[in-house]
Amino acid sequence: MSKESAETDFIIVGQGLAGSLLAYLLLQRGKKVQIFDAPEIPSSSRVAAGIFNPVTGRKLVKTWMADELFPFLEQFYLELEDVLQVKFFHQVPIYRPFPNEEVQEYFKSDKVPENFADFATIEFENIAYQDLVNSQLGGVTTKQSGWVDLKILLDAFRAFFRQKGVLFQENFNPESALSNNCKTIFCEGFQARVNPYFNYLPFNPVKGEVLEVTIEDINLDTIINQGAFVVPLSQNTFRLGATYSWHELDFIPTHQGKEDLLMKYHKLMKPNLAVIGHLAGVRPATKDRRPFIGIHPDFPQIGIFNGLGSKGVSLAPYFATQFTEFLLFGKELSPEVNINRFTSLYLRAGNS
Ligand SMILES: Cc1cc2nc3c(=O)[nH]c(=O)nc-3n(C[C@H](O)[C@H](O)[C@H](O)COP(=O)(O)OP(=O)(O)OC[C@H]3O[C@@H](n4cnc5c(N)ncnc54)[C@H](O)[C@@H]3O)c2cc1C
Repeated sequence: MSKESAETDFIIVGQGLAGSLLAYLLLQRGKKVQIFDAPEIPSSSRVAAGIFNPVTGRKLVKTWMADELFPFLEQFYLELEDVLQVKFFHQVPIYRPFPNEEVQEYFKSDKVPENFADFATIEFENIAYQDLVNSQLGGVTTKQSGWVDLKILLDAFRAFFRQKGVLFQENFNPESALSNNCKTIFCEGFQARVNPYFNYLPFNPVKGEVLEVTIEDINLDTIINQGAFVVPLSQNTFRLGATYSWHELDFIPTHQGKEDLLMKYHKLMKPNLAVIGHLAGVRPATKDRRPFIGIHPDFPQIGIFNGLGSKGVSLAPYFATQFTEFLLFGKELSPEVNINRFTSLYLRAGNS
């Protein structure tokens, strides 16, 4: 049930990464905010590995908007560490061993973009990781990469919002949004599929599983990524992930998921490991691989900040800031993220 009063400017539904950043920016700009977060609805932010990486794919091309997003996220998270007084932002390289000679040949060729050295270095022998990684072909080490400890970040936000008296740990019924006198922004992650106002949007949710593991006698402060990723959390403890499945979209870890991850690990890495934890979540991905941000086509008092897919850590700072400026000052939203690109779908579904 809403605690909305004449004093409230914005209700934010969801305290995952999306809702936390948006609520934080609105509060910073002096707005009265209330946040609703249902403890019984799982959050994919609390499962995520939190990796940010400007280059992807076999040929390691720059990701969408990398030149804007990566400098922005660095400054944003560093400032946030100061405000929240916690360390959660880990800037570490990602080593991507070449999986085979064909990929190695590509990186020896003149097809590699000229500015590649700006964001990665290339080695044609595996010297640094020869005791750890199976491939001896060398690989690429990316810069401007790392991981965000989302559990630490979200717990710190939870304490910050509680201390301001703006967090209500309860379910928000979407139907109640229209009767409130303030704007309601839904940041519900995967749960948006049952929101009656936004279920016309073409989501493409993807289940993912991760393991927490220990590896003895290892000295590794780099993320290793090829088929699977191994993220150093603390001495001897690592996150191993992730699976991708478009079926059984729930938060239940599976035997199959664990076996897949262990198989990929042993293909990539030499040392043995012990599993100490296993989590599953659902990425709020979208059919066109771009976020869903904006205001409902018929109801100006409700909006959405969602669709962060598997790149929430890279996308959320930039687009939470852009959406805040849109909400407060009417600045333009990037057309690629604005949900008005799907108004025809909304109308076709028999609305308006
Ligand atoms: C296995 C796995 C690995 C991943 N790895 C990475 C990675 O390495 N890097 C990366 O950038 N991203 C990664 N992701 C993706 C990342 O988790 C998402 O992009 C991001 O966390 C989504 O955040 P969100 O706030 O939109 O959703 P969520 O974190 O799911 O938050 C939604 C919140 O809304 C609340 N809620 C929903 N409905 C209601 C309601 N009606 N009332 C009250 N509260 C409600 C829920 O309780 C929840 O807290 C991964 C995801 C998975 C599953």
